[in-house]
Amino acid sequence: MRAMLFDGPGRPLRAAEVPVPRPQDGQLLIQVHACAVCRTDLHLLDGEVEVPSPPRILGHQIVGTVVESAADGAGATLGKGDRVGVPWLGWTDGTCEYCMSGRENLCPNARFTGRDIDGGYAEYTVADHRFCFPIPPSYSDEDASPLLCAGLIGYRAFRMTGEARRVGFYGFGDSAHILAQIARWQGREVYAFTRSADDAAAAFARELGVAWAGSSEEPPPVPLEAAIIFAPVGALVPAALRALAPGGTVVCAGIHMSDIPSFPYEILWLERSVRSVANLTRLDGEELLDIAPQVPVVTRIKTYPLEATGDALADLRAGEFTGAAVIVP
Ligand SMILES: [Zn+2]
Ligand SMILES: [Zn+2]
Repeated sequence: MRAMLFDGPGRPLRAAEVPVPRPQDGQLLIQVHACAVCRTDLHLLDGEVEVPSPPRILGHQIVGTVVESAADGAGATLGKGDRVGVPWLGWTDGTCEYCMSGRENLCPNARFTGRDIDGGYAEYTVADHRFCFPIPPSYSDEDASPLLCAGLIGYRAFRMTGEARRVGFYGFGDSAHILAQIARWQGREVYAFTRSADDAAAAFARELGVAWAGSSEEPPPVPLEAAIIFAPVGALVPAALRALAPGGTVVCAGIHMSDIPSFPYEILWLERSVRSVANLTRLDGEELLDIAPQVPVVTRIKTYPLEATGDALADLRAGEFTGAAVIVP
């Protein structure tokens, strides 16, 4: 099969012919139809998040069809012919204190798709059936793909904003454009902060009906009750704290962020808080994939062929598209 291989930090992805993987016990062999790129892939490429044993096939927003199952005897509800989604969380031990308390996203032995396990920048992949989701039938493969990380981990971050009515999004890309639609559907107001108030992302945010769009250096017109930082920029933490009303929360949604500059205690005072969000639980995935077709969330995508995965990632880095980039093998 054709695949794009990651050889190590700082090196471009390499197109290669590799054997089609064999599904092991409990795994499904999936023909990949679509796999959206994610900012985490840039952190893997740059060595900011380690890939333990390259070469590795990256890609963790996979939509495909099961072509073979080694899970039929394992009580699998998904099998040959089913369309499935494969997210970042690829395997957990199921026995640690985190797994046993509904926090499998924090499992110290977790294995992640497209980092510890080969992912979706290939014609085929294998995945543990217990960590795959059925895809809502109203979505095409390409349109569903960004839901699997941008949507799903974004949704986990969004849940951390509680009942906040005025929510700021710092960085209006793949996650924010999905969450903005859910937030509006729930009757909340979205404040979109982008690199520059006049750029395509800000225009896109306005198209999606946000209450306000502006530069991340500007204060919002009203104090926010919560903010989610999607951009990997530590300087946005004090900026977001300054935009918050007392009691508000700043949620850092990315896997990596540049250092956070020091800031006066005064902007944290009055019960403001800062927290991160790590990975996902399967429950997050079930909830998001249940809500998305009800809204209905419409994803904005740009497709690339498999061999152009490197271009898609470069375009993501440069902010060359709005919404999400999807690889179609
Ligand atoms: Zn565990
Ligand atoms: Zn991701």
